Amino acid sequence: MELNEIFENLNNKQDNQLNKFELALKKALNRLNDLIIANALEDIKNPLEYDFKFNQYLQESGYYNVINNFVDNGLDVVYGDIVAALSVGGLAVSFSKEDITKIEAIKRLNLQKFNDLSVPTINKMKDSIYKYSLSNLSVSDITNGLRSSLVDSDLFKYSGTYANTIISDYTQSIIDLKSSEADGVWIYDGPSDKVTRPFCNCVLNQKKYYDDSEKSKIQGDKRRAYNCRHIFLLVTEEYAIDNGYASGSASC
Ligand SMILES: [Zn+2]
Repeated sequence: MELNEIFENLNNKQDNQLNKFELALKKALNRLNDLIIANALEDIKNPLEYDFKFNQYLQESGYYNVINNFVDNGLDVVYGDIVAALSVGGLAVSFSKEDITKIEAIKRLNLQKFNDLSVPTINKMKDSIYKYSLSNLSVSDITNGLRSSLVDSDLFKYSGTYANTIISDYTQSIIDLKSSEADGVWIYDGPSDKVTRPFCNCVLNQKKYYDDSEKSKIQGDKRRAYNCRHIFLLVTEEYAIDNGYASGSASC
């Protein structure tokens, strides 16, 4: 199989996981909204306990389940395709027990990123509840206010974007993990279509291959942050040259 076929397969599987995630997330956030509204009158009596209560609502709404499940299972679709891609590039790898331990650590870090989204959201909601506890607003004004605070929260706005970013970061982390002991050069690969950013298109079109330091320079470029579907793959230098890549650095 060709590399672009493998990556297309991988992208399809990941899109599938993202779609499932989005659906489950939407349901959880609807339940969260309902819980907040249903308990608002009770909650404004104890504004200082609202961080605790809101965390309970997150739990009850299924939000934590949704993100846990995404990280625990949704991310797992990558392994077979990564092994296949590395093998096309001339590097035979498999996953060992030690890898599994490292993979677990990578997953925990990713889960942490998700959990960090809830912290400013919890604080924001607590501020709102506190404000309403001191006001003479009507019930409907309070519930409407809480609803719009929630819709305007990081958790509401960015959970989907985070999932997108995490799923592509994860692919790269696993490739990096399997490449750390191998010798080779890095090539940049992934889709080139209407939504591909100019920076990524430029790097793709240059068809260069890179050493570790050049790779991390391009990888960290702000112009490819968030939702980038392109990855660096370690291949043998022979494979790179045979496939039209030239040694060098990217100038994009
Ligand atoms: Zn990209």
